[in-house]
Amino acid sequence: MNNVIYFDISAFIILVIFVATLLGRRQARDRANTLLLILIELATLATIGDFVSAYVENASEYTRMGYILSNVFNYLFYGAHNLLFAIYTLYTYASIDIWHIYNQSKKLKIMWWSVVVFGALLLLTNPFTHAIFEITEPVVYTRGSLIILNYIYAAFFAAWSLGVVIKYRYIVRRDKIYTIIILYPIVITAAVVQALIPGMLVEMLGVALAVLFFMIVMQRHEYQIDPVVGAMKYTTSVERIKRIFRMNKPVTIILIKVANYSNLRLYLGQSLYNKYLYMVSELLGDIAFKHSYPVDLFYLKNGTYGYLSDEYDINKAIPVAETVKNRLAGAMNVGEYTVHTDARICIVRCPEDIDELATMMSLVLTFHETMGDTKDVMLYAEHRNDRNFMIRNEMDDILARALKENLFEMYYQPIYSTVEKRFVSAEALIRLKDEKYGVISPGIFIPMAENSGAIHAIGDYVLNAVFDFIARNDLEELGLKYIEINLSASQCIEVDLVDKILHMIATKGIDADKVSLEITETAADINPAIVDSNVQRLHAEGIRFALDDYGTGYSNIRRVTTLPVEQVKLDKEFVEDIDNPKMWIVIQDTIKMLREMGKEVLVEGVETEEVAHRLTEIKTDLFQGCELIQGFYFCKPLPEKEFVEFIKDRL
Ligand code: C2E
Ligand code: MG
Ligand code: MG
Repeated sequence: MNNVIYFDISAFIILVIFVATLLGRRQARDRANTLLLILIELATLATIGDFVSAYVENASEYTRMGYILSNVFNYLFYGAHNLLFAIYTLYTYASIDIWHIYNQSKKLKIMWWSVVVFGALLLLTNPFTHAIFEITEPVVYTRGSLIILNYIYAAFFAAWSLGVVIKYRYIVRRDKIYTIIILYPIVITAAVVQALIPGMLVEMLGVALAVLFFMIVMQRHEYQIDPVVGAMKYTTSVERIKRIFRMNKPVTIILIKVANYSNLRLYLGQSLYNKYLYMVSELLGDIAFKHSYPVDLFYLKNGTYGYLSDEYDINKAIPVAETVKNRLAGAMNVGEYTVHTDARICIVRCPEDIDELATMMSLVLTFHETMGDTKDVMLYAEHRNDRNFMIRNEMDDILARALKENLFEMYYQPIYSTVEKRFVSAEALIRLKDEKYGVISPGIFIPMAENSGAIHAIGDYVLNAVFDFIARNDLEELGLKYIEINLSASQCIEVDLVDKILHMIATKGIDADKVSLEITETAADINPAIVDSNVQRLHAEGIRFALDDYGTGYSNIRRVTTLPVEQVKLDKEFVEDIDNPKMWIVIQDTIKMLREMGKEVLVEGVETEEVAHRLTEIKTDLFQGCELIQGFYFCKPLPEKEFVEFIKDRL
């Protein structure tokens, strides 16, 4: 009997290459990958079994050794081959992220095990029954009368897998489905050829070719590792997380944020920073491995890593997260530099904690800010009821509701003139009164609205409301020269800002010089050209400008000298530190410098009489002190009615 063994040799070479690449490749050690590796190893074993037994048979002379070898390797072939089909079914579940469907179903498990046990019994009893095969003298392989059962066994699992793929086709990518569909005729044809022509050992080559397709198509996206970072790519990660939510698959996600990533990038330079990211990936992969914690490691931009694990037990996740915390806290040598990682870690369980992709992705980007600034491992579940966290998390909804139901209100904080010794203007400050959370500070929602884009609608509301206020009240009668309105950086770059404002003040019939717009330095940084043009044009129409929060940004002197601002507002931070002698020098000199430029100087955040006095007392040859003061010492921001009463009382 002559068996054609070259097919097996080719199959063997292909499979060994795969095993080597899979083992050698940096990749996630999750269930699907582990099963894939087992599959290829089983295919390799089956190929070896098929090849050696065929080889011994080809030698065609009876020796005791040949007889034993033929038996052993035939059993190896059948054992590995049968298990291959059974494991392939499990792999199907794991690879499309529906492992939990199999895992939670007693019926499916019983079915799988029964058939596997049945197959094993067939083989184990074969030495006595010869139902599958028999080795006769002089080492001749003869099929048993019930070999058909073995084919039925394989067909059963193949059909099961195909059924799963078809049933869940809407979560499987097109190219995957095509691959699986192509794969079936290849394996079936090879098996049929081998069944009809027993010497043609093409089945394992069929399997190897199927694996080849698999590796090329199925594995292509799923295990795309960013070669720079050494973790799953952003797009791949998002695709996976999306699918997990769709299938309601229970997973634990551990988010790890390098909070000082931008400093590190600056410090190390891009190429060493990439090396650092790779080292962190390696470290994280290592930690999960040592804890036997099954994970996919992904990298989600801006120094954020994530472990995605099928292990739902939070008690398994905590020690891993703790180790990550401790290991990252240590020093790390990157090139010739030593760096320290400032990590924030948070454990989320889906779907229990979060069951929606949008919420998850926004958490990924902001958890280190929204969940508080702690280096301890944070559990999402514990923060769910925290007010600030909830507000930040629901901000988009809160703002949409506030805009729709008009839950904003303008407050006014009087501004005192130390020269005229009376209140001469006021700053309009927005307040949000949410039904659920009560008053929410603009310090929280304005920056978030700037991120989400809601700031434009809010800005329009503010302009409208304050212009109405100016139109309703006779400012001169109240002794007020103008009202200051905060313009956010995003508003400053609106293309139609000028027309909008001019149209508003025209229709409401108010004078341009009753309006002072506060801008910040950041605004000018984003897009200097358009900001300059907006400011110049509005200024030409008679609108005043103030530069807000001076001293917190770059304090770009050029901006103070080029932008047509009448007033500069020194930030609260200045006076908070007024007792520091060095700061006192800075305050005096800054005021002096700005006044010499002809700017009005306002100091914000004055809370005590003592500070107010010190500021008024500053003397120079040309000027005396800072002429405008705003702060709780004089008055807190008040609702319109109370503000008007407050001012009238002091006329
Ligand atoms: P800002 O423009 O620098 O406003 C001054 C902030 O300091 C206000 O906080 C005010 O209530 C607070 N403040 C006044 N005096 C004192 C004091 O003596 N001590 C202390 N500790 N604080 C004082 P508020 O109203 O919470 O606003 C915070 C920030 O939110 C504002 O800073 C501004 O950047 C932004 N914002 C407020 N209203 C608006 C608005 O209508 N539009 C825009 N775009 N931003 C706004
Ligand atoms: Mg302001
Ligand atoms: Mg300010």
